[in-house]
Amino acid sequence: MMARFILPCKGSGLPKTCLLGLISSGHVITQSHLLIGSQIIVASVVIVAALIPPARLYLLLHIGKIIGFLALHYLRPGNSTWRLICSVATEPLPKQVEESKMDMPKEIFLKDYKLPDYYFDTVDLKFSLGEEKTIVCSKITVYPRVKGNIATGIELVKECCTSPLVLDGHDMKLVSVKVNSKELKEEDFHLDSRHLTLSSLPSGKFTLEIISEIHPQKNTSLEGLYKSSGNFCTQCEAEGFRRITFYQDRPDIMAKYTCRIEADKSLYPVLLSNGNLIEQGDLEGGKHYALWEDPFKKPCYLFALVAGQLESRDDTFTTRSGRKVSLRIWTPAHDLPKTEHAMYSLKAAMKWDEDVFGLEYDLDLFNIVAVPDFNMGAMENKSLNIFNSKLVLASPETATDADYAAILGVIGHEYFHNWTGNRVTCRDWFQLSLKEGLTVFRDQEFSSDLGSRTVKRIADDAGPMAHPVRPHSYIKGAEVVRMYKTLLGSQGFRKGMDLYFKRHDGQAVTCEDFFAAMRDANDADFANFLLWYSQAGTPRVKVTSSYNKEAHTYSLKFSQEVPPTPGQPMKEPMFIPVVVGLLDSRGKDMPLSSVYHGGKLESVACNDQPIYSTVLRITKKEEEFVFSDISERPIPSILRGYSAPIRLDSDLADSDLSFLLAHDSDEFNRWEAGQILARKLMLSLVADFQQNKPLALNPQFVHGIKSILCDSSLDKEFISKAITLPGEGEIMDMMEVADPDAVHAVRSFIKKQLASELKEEFLNTVKNNRSSEQYEFNHWNLARRALKNIALGYLVSLNDPELTELALHEYRTATNMTEQFAALAAIAQNPGQTRDDVLADFYSKWQHDFLVSLFLNLFE
Ligand SMILES: [Zn+2]
Repeated sequence: MMARFILPCKGSGLPKTCLLGLISSGHVITQSHLLIGSQIIVASVVIVAALIPPARLYLLLHIGKIIGFLALHYLRPGNSTWRLICSVATEPLPKQVEESKMDMPKEIFLKDYKLPDYYFDTVDLKFSLGEEKTIVCSKITVYPRVKGNIATGIELVKECCTSPLVLDGHDMKLVSVKVNSKELKEEDFHLDSRHLTLSSLPSGKFTLEIISEIHPQKNTSLEGLYKSSGNFCTQCEAEGFRRITFYQDRPDIMAKYTCRIEADKSLYPVLLSNGNLIEQGDLEGGKHYALWEDPFKKPCYLFALVAGQLESRDDTFTTRSGRKVSLRIWTPAHDLPKTEHAMYSLKAAMKWDEDVFGLEYDLDLFNIVAVPDFNMGAMENKSLNIFNSKLVLASPETATDADYAAILGVIGHEYFHNWTGNRVTCRDWFQLSLKEGLTVFRDQEFSSDLGSRTVKRIADDAGPMAHPVRPHSYIKGAEVVRMYKTLLGSQGFRKGMDLYFKRHDGQAVTCEDFFAAMRDANDADFANFLLWYSQAGTPRVKVTSSYNKEAHTYSLKFSQEVPPTPGQPMKEPMFIPVVVGLLDSRGKDMPLSSVYHGGKLESVACNDQPIYSTVLRITKKEEEFVFSDISERPIPSILRGYSAPIRLDSDLADSDLSFLLAHDSDEFNRWEAGQILARKLMLSLVADFQQNKPLALNPQFVHGIKSILCDSSLDKEFISKAITLPGEGEIMDMMEVADPDAVHAVRSFIKKQLASELKEEFLNTVKNNRSSEQYEFNHWNLARRALKNIALGYLVSLNDPELTELALHEYRTATNMTEQFAALAAIAQNPGQTRDDVLADFYSKWQHDFLVSLFLNLFE
């Protein structure tokens, strides 16, 4: 499941290239501005909000429980975007309880988990879809769990056969129940509003047939089977299947399914379910049917059914072992032209998973359905992924580079679940990170390989909100998976993945099983690594350094603390991999040969070749690592690539940070050093502003920004991130008493100052990164546009008529939304007639486009 792309939920860490990001990073629209001016923007919000029907608004604002949860957690002072959006939400936010359960320590759930008393082998479903009601027939082969000697299967313990079979069921009418073809009488079962309980069952394997009646047209829960915009659609994760038929609705019940769908042919010409289509034909009364068979065992949360009027974009992909797979993306007819990028993304994902993990697609057909009112964002149902249109549809005129990138990521994400989630699934919902953490990690790696690794890392994990690990199991889970890779290297990680699939294909497993596969495949010592799954809270790590010039040694002393959290007052030290490199006085990486640690001198060289970055394994509350043969005092680059989800406090001086900003070979730390410096600078200027002192910009900082802007060896997208100032919200978060006016004044001051001192450089940047060629989504072009757009934003902040004219020219001549919107955001920095005219023009141009309207409504 994937909900994270629909809403920008990172607070001030929004991707700065998306529409909302541009607006908010331009700081057109902080709350104070809303009140003071920007009437046209306010008007736009009001108009657009009024145009959006409540149901759709709800959809936008609360895509699933997870987004609601995020919204709750990220509604913070200074994050006015969220406040306003949520104030117009039409339904209450989901309770926090469910999601916080996911983050609670695992032991509690291990204790609560019970093996099922019965397993299901095959499930044959038959749906008669009707306008009034839908009849669902299910035929399940059931067998009791064998207790005792599982290997021989002989010892069937009596007590297990006497256990009742408890089926979940919600909001449906039971028509009949048969066991081994014999209809049960009312005294043979017990039915309440949530369960159907069967006792006195046969002692061995038996067949259970249940007929029930449901009303998808009346189903407003958007779970189970529901009708929306004329189409039938399902959403079963996490517990929607119990609204379709009586079932053991838990992920450790894995079975092989067939699904026969019958419906009116003219109303529902397309009938889709999981697996391969094995039969279809016409029936009496204008009806038709389709029979689907999924040869792989799956939990019921992956079941899907779609019936409606849809058309498809068709393509094929040949797997590396030669299987020719039909690919189809289904949408309402008018959306079909906007599915080209989604198809490209799907094929790229299929190829990538083969290349990087050796994982091939396993069926002859892969379907994607994109409908405007799918509530969950995107869902990885086996071979029938269902998406909200927003996550699939794109055209250069209406979608930005950030949207294109998000589509690539989310199509990849759902596809990658085919192995991590579907073929190997989670035993219970407290193992969510097993499938989501791993799959988020995989989609991050996919996007990194196709774009800029550092920028992806910045966007996903290093937003200002991210250093404290988000209270969100998806992201935290991905960080934990990433640490395995940091510790084991790419090859070791791949060995672990191979063993994981070899051991667990077709099973519902736990995070410990994943851990064990990683450990065993590499014969690795992971010390107390498992604590990452059970111990809540973000470790705070302090590091101090000292150089001994006589001994030529350099010491890094680490101490760690994990803050107490509810239910966990005392914390154990965590296992934290910290990637470190040392820079010499010229800014070059020093060779590292050996480290003295824990009473031993350990070589870190690889095959006697020096290395320039190493992983320090911190496992204790306090620990020292001493590098030997260090010829001069180095500048340390610590936690390279953000190698562990911790908060790091170092004793680096501003001059060290400036040095890292100018020289670090690790781009992530280079960016991080710039951000720390900028935050410090902004905070000190805020203090000056509050005391009415004149503001002056540190020339070292200007020099640092200039050196990055003019470094042609750097990736352009990375440059655009590195020269972006921290957001106002981020600075206010760091203040004891937030002062929005002071922060806004200071940020504008720095921006203008940089623009005026580096005007020539910014003008050249705009000039050199223009292109009149047709829009193409690839990294080179995306990076070029990102850099041009940020330079334009700086220039226009000067409010010079010539530069505003330049932006107007860019606005008028733009061939794609990325550049048009960037020009708009640049112009919108300066109140006045030009801004009002351009905003009005943009609004009138796009008010009727559904996708752009999505952005327009975020315009507050
Ligand atoms: Zn997912």
